[in-house]
Amino acid sequence: SSLISIDDIGKKYVIGAEVIHALRSVTLTINKGEFVALMGPSGSGKSTLMNILGCLDTPSKGKYILNGMDVSHMTDDELAEVRNKEIGFVFQTFNLLPRSSSLDNVAMPLVYAGVKKVEREERARKTLESVGLGDRVNHKPNELSGGQRQRVAVARALVNNPSIILADEPTGNLDTKTSIEIMALIEEIHKKGNTIILVTHEDDIAKHAHRIVRLRDGVIEDDFLNEEVRSAL
Ligand code: ADP
Ligand code: ADP
Repeated sequence: SSLISIDDIGKKYVIGAEVIHALRSVTLTINKGEFVALMGPSGSGKSTLMNILGCLDTPSKGKYILNGMDVSHMTDDELAEVRNKEIGFVFQTFNLLPRSSSLDNVAMPLVYAGVKKVEREERARKTLESVGLGDRVNHKPNELSGGQRQRVAVARALVNNPSIILADEPTGNLDTKTSIEIMALIEEIHKKGNTIILVTHEDDIAKHAHRIVRLRDGVIEDDFLNEEVRSAL
């Protein structure tokens, strides 16, 4: 069964007299457990599509069904609720709270979910352990390396057991060695059954995904299984 079902969505931005069709017509189905890389040149609509997939924005036309819910026409409050429950975000720039410990950063989505403090801390600690940061729970972001910061961000994305992890250029600010470590972590999370959508410019990063979706000028130009996956079939 499909977790994400997008049917002929479009998104236009109106700036004064100018209308920009960031997405023209995108139809896409993603099943539970898939690991998809979203690629395409700058301006092709990747961020716009990720914002819609992540319920940060709604399409101008077409239909988006996420986990059985039609989220195409929801209000901002309704979207926020769906987002907190269904989506885990990982960003290029980590987006951690600078004055808060790893534990408090990871526990943050559970505050919005109304989980009590003792349980929040227990779940945050366990999730930090699962990403290899059991010995960094009380550290603040500036006391951690880039790779460790991104691990904290991955733990924050996971702590609420979301239906999808959306990762926007998660290795964009990391050196090659650290990027490989973070991609290994994301692969491990995928193997545990999580659904992952990853935006990247780099073929070396996209090769970790099982399926590549390539956008150009607001349409899907290409949608194929990764070479390794295909040859294993
Ligand atoms: P990508 O992430 O692939 O670089 P984007 O989704 O950011 O592509 O942009 C697609 C097109 O939509 C571009 O022409 C961009 O300038 C335009 N665009 C994106 N966001 C906005 C916005 N908030 N307002 C106006 N135009 C936008
Ligand atoms: P970029 O990849 O351009 O550096 P980000 O990955 O930081 O941008 O953010 C991508 C989109 O997600 C933006 O539209 C931003 O407003 C939104 N966003 C950033 N941080 C958060 C957050 N913590 N929660 C929800 N949305 C966010």
